[in-house]
Amino acid sequence: MSESVAVVGAGLVGCLAAIALAKRGYKVTVFDYRKDPREKSTTDRNLRSINLAISARGITSLEFIDAEMAERVLRDIIPMKGRMIHHLNGRQESQIYGLFGETINSIDRAVLNNYLLDELDRFDSDKVQLKFSHKLKKIKFRAPEELQSCIFSAEDGVEQVYGVDFIVGCDGCYSTTRDQMQREVRMRYSQEYIDCCYIELYIPPSKTYVEEFKGNFSLTPDHLHIWPRHKFMLIALANKDGSFTSTFFGPWKLVESLLKSRSRVQGFLQENFPDAMALMGLENAVECFMSYPKGALMCVECEPYHVPGGRCIILGDAAHSMVPFYGQGMNCGFEDVKVFMKLLDANHGDRAKAFQAYTETRHKDLIAIIKLAVRNYKEMSHDVTSMAFLLKKKIDSWLGKLLKDKWLPLYTMVSFRADIPYNKAVAISNRQNKILNVIQALMIASVSVLGYKALRLCYPAIRRLKRS
Ligand code: FAD
Repeated sequence: MSESVAVVGAGLVGCLAAIALAKRGYKVTVFDYRKDPREKSTTDRNLRSINLAISARGITSLEFIDAEMAERVLRDIIPMKGRMIHHLNGRQESQIYGLFGETINSIDRAVLNNYLLDELDRFDSDKVQLKFSHKLKKIKFRAPEELQSCIFSAEDGVEQVYGVDFIVGCDGCYSTTRDQMQREVRMRYSQEYIDCCYIELYIPPSKTYVEEFKGNFSLTPDHLHIWPRHKFMLIALANKDGSFTSTFFGPWKLVESLLKSRSRVQGFLQENFPDAMALMGLENAVECFMSYPKGALMCVECEPYHVPGGRCIILGDAAHSMVPFYGQGMNCGFEDVKVFMKLLDANHGDRAKAFQAYTETRHKDLIAIIKLAVRNYKEMSHDVTSMAFLLKKKIDSWLGKLLKDKWLPLYTMVSFRADIPYNKAVAISNRQNKILNVIQALMIASVSVLGYKALRLCYPAIRRLKRS
């Protein structure tokens, strides 16, 4: 008889984990405390319907689970080949991501989630069951050979108990599965909020078809748009209908002080993002800024990710919540599923061994990407406008193009090379960075020497000119 598994959370990672497990013959029940999101309109802007950038790690993980499914769920992606920096004076500057035309891709979170739920519906009901309005309250861990007991409160508040062979917790950054595991195993755990609030804004589709952009887009859709203003920033990613989902990121103190009056918000947005306001409509942007939910961003690190004996494991944000500045949270969560499945396969379904191996091999990569994501906030909001940073990036990409696989910029390794684990990418980048610093210093020194020599050559002529 096939083993039974409770997947807690029907978000992005939970759905993919459920699909992967069902394909391996497990009897899967997916629980989520929300109602079925497909019953609501995804155009309701009050929903957390931010769009996400999906890149190589996410895409290859979907393909590993099921290539045809990947094609179906990714049918709406919009490729983005680079960042478009919007300077305060209105100048736009394209900074290409890949060395050889690689792209990251914009996709609406709600749409992707719904497509993954549709994929679960394709399985027979004796293989996969979806139970919405079921909130996990408690897990009673039993001996490994017994059924583990999950206690949910259903919509009517009535407690329901389900016995399963094992549990996969994909219930997001405030995971109850993780809380419950902490009572069973000595888990190292840390949670840290960063001083950054995010507010979703919206750029409507252009009223007319724009030939250049092949759609009703008022900005080029093939870039991730950034308005970097050092301590805060605005970003925007294209949607299929020509609109852009835009997100403001800034320190909580700044946001709280702006929210004291409508005119402050208005003045702030107009002063710092005049071109974006022209597209959003200032009044509309002010209204969204004031009334839309204010999101907090946090990092969660923990270890181990499993309960011994193959009884429970956590994946996705439940195991490693990270700030969104490398666009890797979901990508990494999808990769968790791939890594987990490969270990289950390699251990011929021996869960105890596979779960143990998962914690042992995955931890360093998860820590690496959590730290990189924090570092990237400074890059997106500030460094992208600095000459020194841009020079270093230029040298980095020249070397990448020249030396091909022997020199890989960090962004390339993280976003386009799923075959390089995060931890290894950081180690390679640290080595390359030392070389880059030397090259950059030499370039600056030679420019200074040349400048000095040129000045000395010109000096007599300048003196003559001054005297005459
Ligand atoms: P979630 O999406 O949080 O899903 C968890 C699910 O569990 C939910 O459906 C919830 O209802 C359910 N649940 C919770 N508790 C319970 C319970 N007790 N019982 C039952 N069900 C429960 N990632 C990228 O890769 N690229 C990006 O560009 C990107 N941009 C982002 C931008 C922002 C502003 C933010 C905030 C995040 C971004 N991310 C991005 C990160 C990405 O959104 C997350 O990493 C991803 O959603 C994690 O998926 P998950 O399934 O692990 O968790």
